[in-house]
Amino acid sequence: TATIFYDKDIDDSVLRNKKIAVIGYGSQGHSQAQNLRDSGFSVAIGVRPGRSWDKAVRDGFDVKSVKEAAAEADIVMILLPDERQPEVYYKEIEQGLEPGNAVAFSHGFNIHFKQIVPPDFVDVFMVAPKGPGHFCRRTYLEGGGVPAFVAVQQNATGDSEKLAFAWAKGLGAARGGVLVTTFKEETETDLFGEQAVLMGGLTHLIQAGFETLVEAGYQPENAYFETFHEMKMLTDLMYENGLTGMRYSCSDTSKWGDFTEGPYVINEDTKVRMKNVLKKIQSGEFAKGWLLENKVGRPMFNALMEKESNSQLEQVGRELRKLMPFVKAGKQDSEDITAN
Ligand code: NDP
Ligand code: MG
Ligand code: MG
Repeated sequence: TATIFYDKDIDDSVLRNKKIAVIGYGSQGHSQAQNLRDSGFSVAIGVRPGRSWDKAVRDGFDVKSVKEAAAEADIVMILLPDERQPEVYYKEIEQGLEPGNAVAFSHGFNIHFKQIVPPDFVDVFMVAPKGPGHFCRRTYLEGGGVPAFVAVQQNATGDSEKLAFAWAKGLGAARGGVLVTTFKEETETDLFGEQAVLMGGLTHLIQAGFETLVEAGYQPENAYFETFHEMKMLTDLMYENGLTGMRYSCSDTSKWGDFTEGPYVINEDTKVRMKNVLKKIQSGEFAKGWLLENKVGRPMFNALMEKESNSQLEQVGRELRKLMPFVKAGKQDSEDITAN
């Protein structure tokens, strides 16, 4: 069993006198930079001119080119898209690294799959928040924190793990719990989680349920409320009180159907396929495919983005959510969604 660390267990003084650069100002970048600043650390942003640059300036940060920010900092946290990190790292970050500096990540992909190999005179650590950036920022402002995993790949200074813990505490993550892992474990479990359960599993479960009802002749709006909209309410109850807490709020008829019909939909056969998904991650086959897709200009990725965002489920949902403005209020910039 894992040891979980909380605010009281962590001394963040090792990070207090350090110059921090957050590279990238997207989902994680804007959240981590602002949480650290609000926790009293000094943070500069390194990004290219454009949308993120302007947003970081509006948020009151000292914004520089990636090269300049990385060269000036003691700790360089790379929050660029995983598939772009190697190119930017080798062009604009590596030459600015000095002995005693640290390079940090929020996902293990590029270190684990050896797309980035930092010099041995720097610390290499990871702080991986286990939640989307916009949610991490919101939770921090509410006084809570999204849990994070920390890991150390290189410990040149002897302080690498202390830096990772201090960073996690600065993000507010230690209010939720900080767990020690390795780059390998974080990479493989993170990819599995998003592919099989959190995103791939869930989006396709909802899609299949929605289509089953619509194809049987039921109203699409009814199907949307039934298989999609209500999901958030049930997962909120799970988040707060577990599966049992969720079931407590639901009828006994629904619980009986859950216990008897659920295993007909998701079962040992599903797990066989999940295990295959995990094997492709462990062997590097998934990573290789994704890197290749990027090399050839993302033809499949772009086509799938287009197709998925134009599904009947998405079209019905967009119309219904317009009529429920309270659902969106202050939760996420629609500017962010349309621009991504
Ligand atoms: P985003 O796509 O949201 O943000 C990327 C940022 O990088 C943007 O500010 C973008 O700026 C900038 N950028 C892209 N290319 C370049 C470039 N060539 N030079 C300079 N800046 C560039 O990334 P995420 O926040 O989703 O992911 C960052 C890291 O965090 C990844 O390692 C990911 O795995 C990890 N992570 C992400 C989570 C999440 O919540 N999304 C959760 C946990 C970990 P511009 O506006 O100019 O394009
Ligand atoms: Mg994840
Ligand atoms: Mg991930």
